[in-house]
Amino acid sequence: MFLGMAINFCVLFTFSVLSYWPFQTRVRFHMPFPSLHPFFIALISGITGIVLMGTSITITDAIIVDARMAVIVISGIYGGPIAPLISGLIIGGTRIFITGLTTTSMIVGIGTIIGGLVISVFTIRKRMTFRNARFYFYYFLIQTVVLLAILMDFSWTAAAQIFYFIIFSFLSFFTVLFILRELNIHFTKVSLAEKLSETDYLTGLYNNRMFQKVTESITKNTDAPFSLLLLDIDYFKRVNDTYGHPIGDEVLRELASRLRRSSHSYEGIVSRNGGEEFSVILPYAEKETGMEVAEIIRSAVENVPFTTSNGIDLSITVSVGVTTFPDNGDEIQKLFNQSDIALYHAKNTGRNKAVHIDETKKTSLKSVSS
Ligand code: GH3
Ligand code: MG
Ligand code: MG
Repeated sequence: MFLGMAINFCVLFTFSVLSYWPFQTRVRFHMPFPSLHPFFIALISGITGIVLMGTSITITDAIIVDARMAVIVISGIYGGPIAPLISGLIIGGTRIFITGLTTTSMIVGIGTIIGGLVISVFTIRKRMTFRNARFYFYYFLIQTVVLLAILMDFSWTAAAQIFYFIIFSFLSFFTVLFILRELNIHFTKVSLAEKLSETDYLTGLYNNRMFQKVTESITKNTDAPFSLLLLDIDYFKRVNDTYGHPIGDEVLRELASRLRRSSHSYEGIVSRNGGEEFSVILPYAEKETGMEVAEIIRSAVENVPFTTSNGIDLSITVSVGVTTFPDNGDEIQKLFNQSDIALYHAKNTGRNKAVHIDETKKTSLKSVSS
């Protein structure tokens, strides 16, 4: 009996970990067709249940016990109300025929189907989670134990076997639940750490590291043009010196959301590259579109004052340096340096303006020839 239980537990454990991890919300691997996930989960759980019944522990000719309850309950965590209902139907339906069509098999099979149905109905009202899954399990266990006790005529031998069954069910359910929950916590933490390593804590924009990653991948994987805008707030030090650092931070956050909004329809990728310096990558934007968006951004900053939490309206302006890939540089470092030169030019020629690197070259040529 012990060996049977161990084998049954191993099947439950292996199948659960292998089949449920792709459906964890934060794994890197994304299963296609999200709307069908509850049905996939129901099917996988149903198959697991059938394998569990195939390796079940025989108590009498007609009575077999296994960890099928655990599968039906856990399917509700990943697949919502649909999964326990369908997996209960698959497992219960199979149970009716597995030991021959007898009264016992009918009662136990229908019991499994009803168990799945009841769990499904309750999970419609209260979503199943790792925390509350145990209550659904208790219900299913009690129902199964009562059925077994009735079918086994309440004998002492039956009592002992039911006792082992309860211990086995508890251990297998809670062990699997614990491992799946640990995996879930682990995935959540990893994805949070990844997000933190890619985003700027103050504005939620991409940070410089992510900017490098994105631009490198664009320049390596495509020949299509794109424009790079480099922005710097004009006289930002004065804001900090006059109103304090926290107000300066508010300005940075507001600027971040204006950058997002202004470049959104151009699919702009906005990053905070450091301090009060930002960048916008505009995929497929030639020089003209790049300059058009730079101007939209510049005026969106200049025309609407930045209202701070202490009720002050601040007039802020930005200078923008613009370059276009691949004309102004076919690798990111060169393009970035060119944008920086254009930005520097904007600063030196009055600020609150957008300058394309091509214009700085024309100006310097003019000054050489004159
Ligand atoms: P310019 O027009 O030449 O760009 O003048 P500026 O004062 O903006 O330029 P400068 O580079 O001298 O000053 C940048 C300032 O940005 C200095 C620093 O206090 C401020 N700054 C950098 N990072 C942060 C930040 O995270 N929060 C706040 N509040 N200020 C920051
Ligand atoms: Mg600066
Ligand atoms: Mg500045």
